[in-house]
Amino acid sequence: MESLLSKKYKKEFVTAFDGDESGNLEPRQTPNVLYSKAIPTPVPKPALLAWSDGLAQKLGIQKPGSQQEIDVLGGNRVTETMYPYAACYAGHQFGNWAGQLGDGRAITLGEWETAPGQSWELQLKGAGPTPYSRRADGRAVLRSSVREYLMSEAMHYLGVPTTRALSLVSTGEPILRDMFYNGNAAYEPGAIVMRVAPSFLRFGNFEILGARKETDNLQNLVNWTIARYYPHHQGEDKVLQWFTEVVERTAKLMVDWMRVGFVHGVMNTDNMSILGLTIDYGPYSFVDDYDPNFTPNTTDLPGRRYAFGKQPSIGYWNLGCLAGALAPLFPDTKPLVAALETYREVYWANYYAMMGKKLGLDQVSEDDIKLIKELEQMLTALKPDMTIFFQLLIDLPLDLADADAAEVYFKKGLYDDLSGAEKEALYTFLKKYSTRLLANSCTREASQELMRRTNPRFILRNYLLHQAIEEMEQGKSDLFDKLQQALKEPYSSKYDEFFETRPEWASQKAGCSMLSCSS
Ligand code: AMP
Ligand code: MG
Repeated sequence: MESLLSKKYKKEFVTAFDGDESGNLEPRQTPNVLYSKAIPTPVPKPALLAWSDGLAQKLGIQKPGSQQEIDVLGGNRVTETMYPYAACYAGHQFGNWAGQLGDGRAITLGEWETAPGQSWELQLKGAGPTPYSRRADGRAVLRSSVREYLMSEAMHYLGVPTTRALSLVSTGEPILRDMFYNGNAAYEPGAIVMRVAPSFLRFGNFEILGARKETDNLQNLVNWTIARYYPHHQGEDKVLQWFTEVVERTAKLMVDWMRVGFVHGVMNTDNMSILGLTIDYGPYSFVDDYDPNFTPNTTDLPGRRYAFGKQPSIGYWNLGCLAGALAPLFPDTKPLVAALETYREVYWANYYAMMGKKLGLDQVSEDDIKLIKELEQMLTALKPDMTIFFQLLIDLPLDLADADAAEVYFKKGLYDDLSGAEKEALYTFLKKYSTRLLANSCTREASQELMRRTNPRFILRNYLLHQAIEEMEQGKSDLFDKLQQALKEPYSSKYDEFFETRPEWASQKAGCSMLSCSS
C-alpha cells in the first residue's frame, strides 16, 4: 500500500500530446491541444466523508491518515509528480452538435500505476474552474457527489463496466445551485469525488479532433488509445478492429444497463466512454415500475430521447457520431460503416442471451425470443417493479391455479391493482413460461441459480439516495453507510430491508423520481 503523497505518479497522457501549459483558467477555446493544465482551486476545509476500501485495496492506495492526504483528495495539495489537467473534448448533446465542451469541473491529477503498463487515472470532480468551465463554477454539490460516489461503486458490484469512485470529501464551501432551473437558487454543501478509471477518454475527445480537422492529432490519439487500452489490435487494420470492439463493448454495456434497469439520463456523446464504461453519473435512475418510456432527467422530458428503452438505439446513434469523427482516417469509409452496422447483431444476440439468463433458460430459441417479447409487452402494460418482479419469478410456483393466484403471488411487486384483463395477461405469460421452464435440460435449481446471478435483488433506488443525502446534509451518515455496504452484495438477500417498491411519497417528489442536470 502506498500513500497518495509519496506515490510517483505517471503522466503519460500529457507527455504524449500537446496541451496548453499556461495554467490559465479563463474560459476559452483551445484549438490544437488535447488538454489544458489546470491546478485545482483550494477549498476552505476538506474533510473525508467516505472511502472505498475495496477499490483502494485493488489499487494499493493507503487510506488517508493525515490531513495532508485528505488535502490531495480535496484539491488543496498537488504533489511533485502530479500534472493536473482538464481534457478538451466536444460532443453531441440531445442530438445536436455542441462544439467544444471539455472537463469543466474534472481535473485529472495523475496516473496511478499498479503494474508496468497498467495505470489508473485519478480525477477530482468538483475541484474548481478549468478553461472548459464556460460560465459555470467548476464545483459539485454534496447531493450529486454522493450520487456519483455510491452509484459508480454500485454498478461495479453489479458487474456493469464503470468508472469507480475512491473518495468523497466535503469542502466546507457552500455552492449556489438552481436545482430545478426555476429561479429558486439555494446554497448547498460542496463536495469532491475522486474518480478512478484506466481512462476517462470519451467519444467527444475524438469528435473534437474530427470537427477541427486536426487529423494528425486524431491519428495520434487513436494510435495511443489502441496501443494502451486495446494492444491486441495490431497491424494494418487495427483502427477498424479497434472501432469494431468499441461498437461491441458499447452494445454489451447497453445490454447490462437493460439487465439491471439502469437509465443513464444524459447519453450525450461526451458522456460515452471509449472503453465502454458507464461514465458521468448525473440524473440517472433505476427503473422502479417497468416503463421503457421512463426518463429520470427533467431536461429530457420533451423528447424522452434518453428513456430506458431507447438507450440501445442511442448507443448506436452515438457510435455513428464516433464513426463520423474517425472517417478522415479511412480512405474508404465502407468498412467503417460496416463495422458500425455490426451493432444491431451484437446487441440483439447479447440481449436475448441476457434475457434468457434473467428467465433461467438453458438456451434461447426462436420460440423463446417470442416469449421474451411477450414478457416485455406484459411488463410494459402492467408496470410491476422490475427488480421485485424478476426476484419473485425465481421462486415461481409452476402450478399457479388461476389469474387471481398469479396476482396474489406478485402482489409485493405491484404498484397498482390489476384489472381482470391484466391478471389474465400475467397468468397467460406465466403458464407459457412455466411450460418452458419444464423443458430446460438443466435442473430447476441450476436455472434458479442462474437467475439469482443475473437479477439484482438490491438496487440503489433514487428515493434511498435522496434520504441518504438529506441525512448527510444534516451530518448523519447511517443510511449512507448502510447503502455503501448493501451495494457490495446486490445479488444476495442480506439487505432485504431495502427489498421494497418505491414508496408512494417518493413517486412525485423532486429528487426521487425526476432529477435535473444541476449538480
Ligand atoms: P454533463 O452534462 O454533466 O456531462 O456536463 C456537460 C459539460 O458541462 C461538461 O463539459 C462538464 O464539464 C460541464 N459542467 C457541468 N457542470 C459544471 C460545473 N458546475 N462547472 C463547470 N463545468 C460544468
Ligand atoms: Mg459529462
